[in-house]
Amino acid sequence: MSNSGWKVYEALNWASSYLQESKRDENAGEILLRHFLQVERSGLFANFHTEIPDQIQVKFKEAVELHVKGTPIQYIIGHEDFYGRKFKVTGEVLIPRPETEELIFHILRKIPSVFGRKNGLSLVDIGTGSGAIAITMKLEHPTLDVTATDISEASLEVAKENAGDLGADVRFIRGDLLQPFIEKEQTLDIILSNPPYIPLHDKEWMSEVVIGHEPHRALFAGEDGLDFYWRFMEELPLVVKKPGLIGFEIGAGQGESVADMLRSTFPEALVSVEYDINGKDRMVF
Ligand code: SAM
Ligand code: GLN
Repeated sequence: MSNSGWKVYEALNWASSYLQESKRDENAGEILLRHFLQVERSGLFANFHTEIPDQIQVKFKEAVELHVKGTPIQYIIGHEDFYGRKFKVTGEVLIPRPETEELIFHILRKIPSVFGRKNGLSLVDIGTGSGAIAITMKLEHPTLDVTATDISEASLEVAKENAGDLGADVRFIRGDLLQPFIEKEQTLDIILSNPPYIPLHDKEWMSEVVIGHEPHRALFAGEDGLDFYWRFMEELPLVVKKPGLIGFEIGAGQGESVADMLRSTFPEALVSVEYDINGKDRMVF
């Protein structure tokens, strides 16, 4: 097949066989081409026999090449959908995951059962990355007073941009876990976090795509992946109100360990482990 003057279907055929050969998702070609042509799926089909402008063809080939070498598609196109909204992502932030949408779903259901119809509840999202959790919570539950933190200034820049683009009124603070609140002696109603939880020695288990391209500070957490939860157990009692609601995303298999930590830190609390749609323990409340 000639490389110049590709029609849409020729570009897609080239990409899908190249991606398949390289053991990548063959649908990546369609996503990338739609991104560069700025069309919906239907626009792509309607123009199956239309020739692609030269500069777009060059960009498309480069992008497929990058993905074949391991760059996640979301970093190439610069965004990911989360809870029905588009979040900007750069290599400085974790690409928000569908598992984390399930954390939002559960928290939204638990808020009324813990707090009734109370307004103005304070919610913090610790380690906000792209801002996915904090921004989604504010937009889904506008009466919350939402603060998001991260240790990384670069992440916070991305999160602030997302909050601006999506029109979410969220406060952003740089800081180490709950320290900013402890320093100000501020107490909180709802504390959420999807902290790093991948065991260091499990690097092999992680796909090469993630290891090579997503920030390690967002992923790895000591030998057993539990370092951040241990630190939270020391800091939580200083800031959580009673009644209060704590929600963690966890790695599969960590449910009972994290639940036990919470039970010994808060003997009077109701602790539950929730499973994701793939049947893995994924959240502790
Ligand atoms: N909340 C985002 C999400 O769910 O997509 C990102 C979660 S990512 C697994 C963990 C985040 O925690 C990263 O953005 C990382 O920069 C941040 N982080 C790492 N260590 C931290 C610390 N000591 N204090 C606050 N944030 C931290
Ligand atoms: N769910 C992410 C992954 O498996 C990890 C996120 C985290 O460490 N909190 O790639």
